[in-house]
Amino acid sequence: MAQRKIKTSFVTPAIRKPGSSIWIPAFAGMTGESLRRNDGCARLQKTENSRRLFNRAQKVLVGGVNSPVRAFKSVGGVPRFISRAKGSKIWDVDGNKYIDYCLSWGPLILGHARKEVLNAAALALERGSTFGLPTETEIELAEVLKKAIPSLELVRLTSSGTEAVMSALRLARAATGRDLIVKFTGAYHGHADSLLVEAGSGLTSLGRPDSFGVPKSFAQTTLSLPSNNILAVKEAFKKWGPKIAAVIVEPVSGNMGTVLPEKGFLESLRDLTKKYGALLIFDEVITGFRFGFCGAQKIFRIEPDLTCLGKIAGGGFPLAAFGGKKEIMELLAPLGPVYQGGTLSGNPVAASAALKLLALLKKENPYPDLNRKTLRLVEGIRQEARNARVSVQVNSFGPMLTVFFSEHPVRDYFSAKKSDTKKYAAFFHALLDEGIYFPPSQFEACFLSSAHSDSDIDQTLSAIGRAFSQLKSSR
Ligand SMILES: *Cc1c(COP(=O)(O)O)cnc(C)c1O
Repeated sequence: MAQRKIKTSFVTPAIRKPGSSIWIPAFAGMTGESLRRNDGCARLQKTENSRRLFNRAQKVLVGGVNSPVRAFKSVGGVPRFISRAKGSKIWDVDGNKYIDYCLSWGPLILGHARKEVLNAAALALERGSTFGLPTETEIELAEVLKKAIPSLELVRLTSSGTEAVMSALRLARAATGRDLIVKFTGAYHGHADSLLVEAGSGLTSLGRPDSFGVPKSFAQTTLSLPSNNILAVKEAFKKWGPKIAAVIVEPVSGNMGTVLPEKGFLESLRDLTKKYGALLIFDEVITGFRFGFCGAQKIFRIEPDLTCLGKIAGGGFPLAAFGGKKEIMELLAPLGPVYQGGTLSGNPVAASAALKLLALLKKENPYPDLNRKTLRLVEGIRQEARNARVSVQVNSFGPMLTVFFSEHPVRDYFSAKKSDTKKYAAFFHALLDEGIYFPPSQFEACFLSSAHSDSDIDQTLSAIGRAFSQLKSSR
């Protein structure tokens, strides 16, 4: 899940009501809870049960959640507690229904609670939930992954994307005998220490911790460079080349919002890493199986040395993977000296679900229709924005998109950060109030699933039109 630490600069100014444990955003007056609809009637969505659960949660769970972005901190208001989901819809504990464009942060490309996937998991579960010994399902899943993404000559399954990335980095460092990792500012690769790093003071100076608890010495093994800036990468290689173990990149960024790679950027990364003997790691946790039954690497025609998968590839269960060139992967234990393992790695229930989801994806090939529906949504949002004279940038690729509240094109983290996060928060709440759930942060991607219907999109577009005009009038 894309549950990055939220930088303080993004955090909504919040005030604590005396005697209350709930943080109210300072601009609560703009949020859905008090927005008026066109008909002039205030529509107060019932949130009593979510509110009660959030209060109770905060007494036992840190911040009431198990992954920070779920707390709605950057948009304010009460996080909705979910009771069930089906297809494109989720229902909260107050009985509100939402068209879901977050889809558990990406895995559910066939929508929620797809019957065949649940049945596959249930069937596996009857045979036992975990054995700590190998099963045939794990082989089958690895075979499917390798066939779809041929650069995965050998695969290792893990339980989360974070683990997959963390292990791939360890492997890259072992394979090259080098310590430095190059990443791009605003990218998210899970919460391994080496990657919770922000840019240093100079363009190509070593990084600084982006979270408390990350030792400075760890941060200094990472270079955080501006994305889509090949000059910066060239400079970094000139300066640090013989020490760089790997460059890790999301081929299409989802974690600063949707940001596309510019022409030649990924190619240059491939050329430079080759030239300097470093590895290229594609973090395809979001992009894997998102744009076709393949990785983004096939679409951009670039073969990385290592690839990380998760989300869709995990079938909506705690399962992820990394893999790549045989001679590199063979450095992993039990064959080689790089340790990596996990009690639940390759879990048979998760692997069965993932296998079924991938089989359905292959059979149904929902991609052309997903692209068509996403384009309709994107074009529709642009039209509604023009009608309401609201400045937005809609970035999209395949079935992922982000509506940035900015007047300028968004091509990297720095331009993404210029977005008006208060407007996004108001927009988010206006949509929530209309039964549309967008991700609770400006800097995330919306996803579509094959379960999203054209009438879902129509409904979403009219809600967006109303949200935009409310934004305009509330200024
Ligand atoms: C979600 C995500 C991760 C981390 O995966 P988890 O399963 O949440 O640990 C890593 N990389 C990218 C690109 C992601 O979007």
